[in-house]
Formats: sequence, C-alpha cells, structure tokens
Amino acid sequence: MNKSLLLTLLACLAAAAQPVRVERLKADIQFLACQPLEGRRTLERGSDVAAHFIAAEFMKAALRPAASGSFLQTFLVLQHRTDPKATRLSLRSASGRRELEYGRDFTVSFPREIQLRAPLVFAGYGITAPEYGYDDYAGLDVRGKIALVIEYEPRAYDPSSPFNGAGNTIHASPRRKLLNAQAHGAAAVMLIPAPNRKRPLRLARGGVVESLAESEVHIPLITLSAETATRLLEEAGRKPADLQAAIDGELRPVRLPLATQAELKLVNAESRRGATANVAGLLEGADPALREETIIFSAHYDHLGMREGKLLPGADDNASGTAGLLELARLFAAEQARPRRSILFVAFGAEEAGLLGSYYYVSHPLRPLGSTRAVINLDMIGRDEKPSQQTARLIEIAADTSNEINLVGAFYSAELRAVIERENAAIGLRLSDKWDRDAALNILWRCDHFPFLLHQTPAVWFFNGFTPDYHTPADTPEKINFAKMEKIVRLAYRCGRALADQQGWPRFAAAK
Ligand SMILES: [Zn+2]
Repeated sequence: MNKSLLLTLLACLAAAAQPVRVERLKADIQFLACQPLEGRRTLERGSDVAAHFIAAEFMKAALRPAASGSFLQTFLVLQHRTDPKATRLSLRSASGRRELEYGRDFTVSFPREIQLRAPLVFAGYGITAPEYGYDDYAGLDVRGKIALVIEYEPRAYDPSSPFNGAGNTIHASPRRKLLNAQAHGAAAVMLIPAPNRKRPLRLARGGVVESLAESEVHIPLITLSAETATRLLEEAGRKPADLQAAIDGELRPVRLPLATQAELKLVNAESRRGATANVAGLLEGADPALREETIIFSAHYDHLGMREGKLLPGADDNASGTAGLLELARLFAAEQARPRRSILFVAFGAEEAGLLGSYYYVSHPLRPLGSTRAVINLDMIGRDEKPSQQTARLIEIAADTSNEINLVGAFYSAELRAVIERENAAIGLRLSDKWDRDAALNILWRCDHFPFLLHQTPAVWFFNGFTPDYHTPADTPEKINFAKMEKIVRLAYRCGRALADQQGWPRFAAAK
C-alpha cells in the first residue's frame, strides 16, 4: 500500500464517526428509570446514585473531572414553603389600607424571610431590550421600590410583533424581569397577570418550593391575582387592559403614577437544605489555539421521585437525554482525531425544581461563558410527540412525529440553527421550530438551555415534545423509540463535531 493511500485511509478512519450503540442507550435508560432509583428526585438518594453513575461513566470514557478535580459540581438547595397564614401583604393608598389574602389575592415564595415596606412603581412589562429599542425603565427610578410589571411582553400574540412574533423572547420570562428589576435597584417585583392572557392564572397555594442557596436572584417575585391587579390599577385611573393596549399600540413604555405603598411580610412554614450536584466531564480540545473555547452538551438527570407510592420513572424525561449525553461522551472520547475545541459534558441536577443546576452553572461556570461557543441540551429525546392535556387546543402537533424533533431556542442564533440544518442533511430528521414560534406553555424558559440564553450564549434544546405520559408513572423505558433516538444522538454528535472543529463560531443574535 503506498503511503499517500495509507494516509488517506487513516484520515477517513479518523473522520468516520463511531456508530451510536442503541444497546448502550437502552441499558442506561433502563438503569436510570429503574425502581431502586425511586424517580431520581433532587435531595433524595436516587438522584445521588444517578449522579455517581454518570460520574463513573465519564471516568470510563476518560473524560477529565471538570469541577476542580471532581466530576461533581456540588450546590446547595433550599426547600421551603410559604406560611399561608403568617405571610401578609397589604396595600396602602389614599383610599385606605387593604389586607390581601395569600393564595387568593397574591402569591409569593422566597428562600428567606422578608420584611419589606416600599412604594410601588409601574414599570410596564419590566423589559429592557435595546435590540428592539424598548426600555420600560428609561427615566424611571425604582431603587428601593417595588416594580409593578405586566407579565410576558408587548404584542405577545401578534405574529408580526418585533418580540419574536407570537413566540416568546427571553424578556417575557419572569426570571429576566427579576434580573432586570434587580439590576435597576428594585426591592421586589410585583407581577400583574397579562390582561390579554388566554387562560386564567391559577395562583400557587403554598407548596414546597426548591431554590438555590446561592442564587443570582436576590429579590422576590410577588404575583397578584387579576382581581387584585385590576383594583390596584383602577385606583390609579387605568384599566389593566387599556394600559396594556396603550403600550402595545405604540411599543413605547407608558407611565402611570401610583400612590400606593406595599408592605410584605414573608414567613416560611418550613425549610431545609441539602446538597445535590451537576456532573461535568471535559474532553480537552486538540488545537492549542482553540482548546480554551468550549462546546457544551447537557442533559438533566433528576426527575420527580415517587407519587402516591408509584414510581415516576422519567424514562423519556430525562433518562433519554442523559443516556444520549453519556453516549456522546463515549463517542467523542473514542475518536482518534480529537475535536479542536474542548467539549464539556454536563448532566444537570435539580432541573425539575426550576432549572437549579443550570442556573447554578451559569453563575459558577466551569469554563468561561464568554468563550462557550454553543450549548446543545438534550431533554426528552426518546418519544414521538402526541397531543395531550398539556397541549390540547394550544398547539398543533403533526399526525406523524416518529421522525421529528423540536429545536427550542434556536431562533437566538441563526448560525447555530444553520449548522444543525446542514448536519441534519445526512440524518434526515424533520426539524420543527413550532415551540419557538408559539408562546404556548412558555417552552422557551422551561429547560436547561435557557440560563445560557440569558447569558447571551447560543443554546438549543433538542426536545421531542410532550406525550400523555409526561410526568406520570407511564413514562417508561419500553415506550422509547430507539430508532429515532439514535438519529437524534447522531445529529447531536455531528453538530458537536462541526461546532468544535469549524473556523469561527455561531453568534448570539437577538431574534427579530
Ligand atoms: Zn426534563
């Protein structure tokens, strides 16, 4: 064999992707979904066992421990429950003082107790979005005050809205509103249900909530009932619907002087703390000029535990994504030719409790976010999407989804989306952006890609969509469509390889 032919052959071998091994996907899903792991609930043993299993698999793949010498990035979680009796909120204005009832008129939860008295300032939608030339806080002083804001964003249901048409942007999320109010010095955010809301708001009635002990959010979110909000605004001379229409009409903030003081006392009936972890392994890049840059694959491994004595196996949610993540780690680690950029594999903990693992990660990144070039998040990649109670009358689901995968968040990077589309040409899945085009169920901020979007890092969630088995004991391993899942993992692999090796990287860009 001549030398150049040999070199060509070797190059081909190096470039040829290892096959995705379905039997490994199956084995990992079966283990993660098994009865002894008791549904992998955060702060319970099953979740800890899952984390150690993932760490062991990363070790077998010879990944490098990415959290200061360990595979586990540990963080503290607080469990707390608002005391519905002792927690009080009152509003005081010229017309007198009104005591509100927790659970009926308002709701609030926060990991620590709060005593707060401050004036309310109406701050529109509470949005600062230079990319759309829109700022509710322009010329507004909310320091030490409570920002009263309407939920979601202007023209939420208008397909021609600059705010991503009828889909959400990051600005519509409560998290973004909290961070923005906090950056402007507000003491709290008080949320008004959007007058044009399509479904009535149900206030949470004091269940146990989990929060990060070290959160980047330091101020509470108080949610008002529609009745309370209406009364409050009408006292100031405006109907909520008119106020919203005025902002939406001109896409300009509207001022509304309020002469109302709020007094909040938040008491927690119970609280306890415990530790859980993200599991992170690094495959160092081969190119000295690029190896400081990072591509992230992620998937959450926790689930919801047991319900009324029954196992919630979470086979699709998200043993499937976790198994996909482990398989990707094995495939990349087995490659002869290492990728040029580094690849970080992260299994997030405490996603079901409110993306706690990924929120912790972005405020304690193991690799600088500024040089994290793209995130591919796998959550629910094993089933065919089917209409369910969740989606009924909200969104249209194709009759046959056995070859379809949803991309969520991809509208924040057309270049990342282009990479996925190009790589998919060799795979042939149908890529759907329906969850990006529609605000239904607020899918944009319901998974671990979202904290990265808040930090201007291109991130996409591969998501098979809902089934009637979602979050029930029926989310079991034998229902996984492995033929489709194999293709999704292969697509993720190809995208990761391309992103790690290509010149340049996808930019984060405001969705227009
Ligand atoms: Zn999930």
